[in-house]
Amino acid sequence: MMAGTLCAVGVGTVMYLVANKPAKGSKKARKGRKTEGKKFIIGGNWKCETNCAKVDEIITRLNGIESIPDAIEIYCCPPFPHLATATIDLRADIAVSSQDCGVMEKYGAFTGDSFAGMLKDLGCEWALVGHSERRQYQKESSELVAAKAAAALKQGLGAVVCIGESKTEREGGLSVMKKVLLDDQMTALLKALGNDQSAWANVVIAYEPVWAIGTGLSATPAMAQETHKLIRDWVAAKIGPTTAANLRIQYGGSVKGATAKELAAQPDIDGFLVGGSSLKDDFLLIISEAEAGLKMR
Ligand code: PEP
Repeated sequence: MMAGTLCAVGVGTVMYLVANKPAKGSKKARKGRKTEGKKFIIGGNWKCETNCAKVDEIITRLNGIESIPDAIEIYCCPPFPHLATATIDLRADIAVSSQDCGVMEKYGAFTGDSFAGMLKDLGCEWALVGHSERRQYQKESSELVAAKAAAALKQGLGAVVCIGESKTEREGGLSVMKKVLLDDQMTALLKALGNDQSAWANVVIAYEPVWAIGTGLSATPAMAQETHKLIRDWVAAKIGPTTAANLRIQYGGSVKGATAKELAAQPDIDGFLVGGSSLKDDFLLIISEAEAGLKMR
């Protein structure tokens, strides 16, 4: 996209004026994450998909957004080797999240690991933990994921905690869904955090049905809404109604510009976690369509 031009994005009707001078962030500007109110929160998970050129392309696109809608908060999850580029080059009103973090509570001899305090020092504001690809390929248990979330919170990062069920588990019906999402994944998190309201205020749950991640198959808005409500009702019963009402629950699984509006119109969907589309122009359409969906509530 050319600086200073009016660009049509994707198939939608919304147009963005690309700013002449993107406002860059800096490590300093990022220190001290503030979450204001219950904004709809959209995360871009770049997975392990970016080389340096692709990172520059994505950052240029995001820095070119004229203004982020007031009702929406955005963060990006670059792969570890690109975190510093993002914390320095990405505009300060888009937060940076790691894609994981270690459980340790200090710097030290932990080769290959990432202390949450180090991520915070680098300018990260969030740590994403428990993505299904890590649960699957790194065999991460719900207890380990919960310990990572607690470690991130302890160092002042927000924690985005991914939960979700497989296709077989969804086909097993409500009792199996409850066992996986609530008795296992959410219960492990509750055990690690207790019902400390201030900890939960910095948690975002990303509900991502595993069968919908990277497959092009999305949960329907009704399916996603029903599962988000199930999670919120559980939080209300176990932790309290205020925590439940304030908790942001993102939907993730093949979200696209074409599906974002209807999903965002659902009362219990408080954001999206976007994989594949976060690498493309479609991410901008997702943001504008989410804003339109919020107005339909
Ligand atoms: C993800 O990586 O968390 C994700 C939801 O991916 P996708 O949007 O590609 O399904």
